[in-house]
Amino acid sequence: MLAYTYVSKGNFQLLEKPKPEIRDGKDAVVRVELASICTSDLHIKHGAVPRAVPGITVGHEMVGTVEAVGAEVTKVKPGDRVAVNVETFCGNCFFCKRGYVNNCTDPDGGWALGCRIDGGQAEYVRVPHADQGLTVIPEGVSFERALFVGDVLATGFWAVRISEIRQGDTVLILGAGPTGICTLLCARLKEPERILVCEKDPDRLAFVREHYPDVLAVTPEELPETVKRFCPNGGADVVLEVAGTSDTFEMAWKYARPNGIVTVVALYEEDQVLPLPRMYGKNLTFKTGGVDGCDCEEILSLIAEGKLDTLPLITHTYPLSRIEEAYELFENKKDRVMKTAVRCQQI
Ligand SMILES: [Zn+2]
Ligand SMILES: [Zn+2]
Repeated sequence: MLAYTYVSKGNFQLLEKPKPEIRDGKDAVVRVELASICTSDLHIKHGAVPRAVPGITVGHEMVGTVEAVGAEVTKVKPGDRVAVNVETFCGNCFFCKRGYVNNCTDPDGGWALGCRIDGGQAEYVRVPHADQGLTVIPEGVSFERALFVGDVLATGFWAVRISEIRQGDTVLILGAGPTGICTLLCARLKEPERILVCEKDPDRLAFVREHYPDVLAVTPEELPETVKRFCPNGGADVVLEVAGTSDTFEMAWKYARPNGIVTVVALYEEDQVLPLPRMYGKNLTFKTGGVDGCDCEEILSLIAEGKLDTLPLITHTYPLSRIEEAYELFENKKDRVMKTAVRCQQI
């Protein structure tokens, strides 16, 4: 089968590899229908993910059909349409039992697929701990609509869940890339009074204004005035930082109101400074980290009910044979790309 492979730093190639097989009773093999490209794939390409293993197939955001399952798998069976979770987790360790699946202590736990073990930008993928890693897609929900459930949408959902957004709140989201938009979609479900989105890229701002007219989308230059005007208590009740630059880290605590919540979802390329003397008396609560991707079933139900729709995020689709081009487009943010889907069967 064809598999897009991390050969070495800066070098991904579409290679012929053997089809994966069940190795453990908890494994499943999934025939990948659609995969997508994520910024984390680019981080691997640029050599910025030291734990990524050269030779592995990349891709950690995909949907498909179960082809085979190991003897201990009980929740899915061959023929099921499934969303694959970016995180592999055992479901039994201290952290898994508390819902902190990102910190699963299993040797395969955490972000393994498409990083430490073969991922899904390929015709087939082996998924360890399949009972936790796969979620059946409800009837009536297309592969396209379920594509982001295991990664960017899971991240937005988790970020909103830990941010304790209440009805009537003003929520500020920094960054309107795919994860920012997923965060925005999930934040809306909490019925805040107002959502502000700050983004410097004009195409992304236009995307928000076009698809989510109820949201106030502004540039970083417009933000101070906007916050002054719409946040009577000195800042937003909740700030979600999804952009990941030094500027946005500072904006996150600066534009939160006293006693507000700041949730940092972004992954920074360098350390950030937390200027505690300047923040003294502001009494902020910070929440940080990586997604605990354990809400996929609930997310899929919300999609089935029509309450979450990420279809507009798929701006481009390519066959696996042309995945090079898909990367080129995504990496260089060409043609107003938001997310690129890759069809892994009609090669
Ligand atoms: Zn990702
Ligand atoms: Zn675990």
